[in-house]
Amino acid sequence: METLVFKTDPKRPSQRTIDAAAEAILNGRLVVFPTETVYGIGADAFNEKACRNIYKVKGRASDNPLIVHVYSVEDTMKLGSFSREHAKALSRIWPGPLTVIVKGKGILPETVTAGLDSVAIRCPKGRVIRSIIKKAGVPIAAPSANISTKPSSTKGEHAIGYFRGKVAMIIDGGEADYGIESTILDLRSFRILRPGAFTPEQIERAFGRKPVLGRLAEGTASAKRVISPGTKYRHYAPSTPLFVYTGDRRAVYSLVRPFGRSAAFIGSEESCNMFKGTGVRCISLGPSKSLRIRVHRLFDKLIELDSVGVKFGVVEQFDGKGLGYAAMNRLRKASSHKSFSTSEELKKLIDNI
Ligand code: AMP
Ligand code: MG
Repeated sequence: METLVFKTDPKRPSQRTIDAAAEAILNGRLVVFPTETVYGIGADAFNEKACRNIYKVKGRASDNPLIVHVYSVEDTMKLGSFSREHAKALSRIWPGPLTVIVKGKGILPETVTAGLDSVAIRCPKGRVIRSIIKKAGVPIAAPSANISTKPSSTKGEHAIGYFRGKVAMIIDGGEADYGIESTILDLRSFRILRPGAFTPEQIERAFGRKPVLGRLAEGTASAKRVISPGTKYRHYAPSTPLFVYTGDRRAVYSLVRPFGRSAAFIGSEESCNMFKGTGVRCISLGPSKSLRIRVHRLFDKLIELDSVGVKFGVVEQFDGKGLGYAAMNRLRKASSHKSFSTSEELKKLIDNI
């Protein structure tokens, strides 16, 4: 399939690009576009066949439902049931990087909801996706634009690498603002199913209530108890084995240094500096004082890890507050829960590669 690639300024997308994307969506085609969180791969949410195609192109399991993106809070009410208080809080939060799960109204195709009686809805802020929804006049079902199990696309070039030749159109709008997916909050239980760009602290401020956290949000829940289908699958993973370092920041140097060129280290600029001249490949996420930048670059750097030709990568853990909470969820999954804090533990992980 020929894929049209359009480059655009994500803050002021060209009308020609938006018109072409809306037309493709209404014709049942797939379009990849930037949002404020990560890139999405979208289809008309009312077009069953087009939505089925999203699963096919991503290699996504059919029991893993899609998030439906709408233009306004009013549009949301047509798709799902909300209490008055929740609707009020959402009208302050949206457009923004929070997805909510509510009881569905049964008007979306089963392919979108994977047959559940609930639906995941978000009113995104990114100008490109917002303009496409408005122009097309339909809700857009869109999961993250990555091949299943791989890290999400945070730049146009990632999306092009995954989907050129597989979708009708890709809009390259440079870097997505957050670089991490939306937070998924189940409004029925007030539980975070997936932490993301909208932090637990922001949820508490907006709703006047602490969200329920726990093993699902941390990314440590077992596959047996699944509330959000997507959480049971391997996710965000580079092909290179990845281990999370959970010990004292400065001690990682002596543990990883002996592996020289066969290892890569992903972490803050300051931590990376320790490895200068050791042969260990350093992949800097940015200054330790800027959590937002380090989270923003995380997927990009996980994708980069596969291009540097090392036997394994070590990634420094994030402090679990704010955006760091979501970043840790991604790292646990990207590493298949493999972490270490001593050289014995690291050796064991390497022996099992
Ligand atoms: P993605 O858009 O690829 O970031 O993935 C969407 C996430 O939303 C997946 O983890 C889905 O399992 C989750 N999701 C979508 N719809 C529902 C729903 N009705 N109930 C619970 N989780 C959902
Ligand atoms: Mg995803």
